[in-house]
Amino acid sequence: MSSTTQCTICHDAASKYKCPKCFVGYCSVKCFKIHKSEPCAAPAPEPPKPTPKPKPKQQASAKVPEIDDEEEEEKHRLKAEDLKKLGTSIRLKELLQDPSLRTLIAAALADPDPISAIRSLRQQTGFEELAQELIQTTQN
Ligand SMILES: [Zn+2]
Ligand SMILES: [Zn+2]
Repeated sequence: MSSTTQCTICHDAASKYKCPKCFVGYCSVKCFKIHKSEPCAAPAPEPPKPTPKPKPKQQASAKVPEIDDEEEEEKHRLKAEDLKKLGTSIRLKELLQDPSLRTLIAAALADPDPISAIRSLRQQTGFEELAQELIQTTQN
């Protein structure tokens, strides 16, 4: 019957001390010297548990919006027709007597999206009537 409190060297006395290296119990310096006469090793540490690597989150592939060719063609077609309509609008001709307005309208019509460009003109004071006329002309 072995007890953990028994000296592991002489097995004759209670262990009061423990080897700082292997943690075996011993009762006295005498037994400790006997113990140290033989190589002792620290108890094998528990093998570290392999930490599972977190699975990399699947990144949502950023979808590049495809350019709608038909929409692009529609814009160009409208642009060409709008230019013809604008040329036939008498009211526009009156409004376009102002050279500064002509410059702005020419810039708007040169825009890839003339309707949006014309609408943005409306935000400038004084262009509301002209913009209205332009939009009505291009949309009728
Ligand atoms: Zn002892
Ligand atoms: Zn030891």
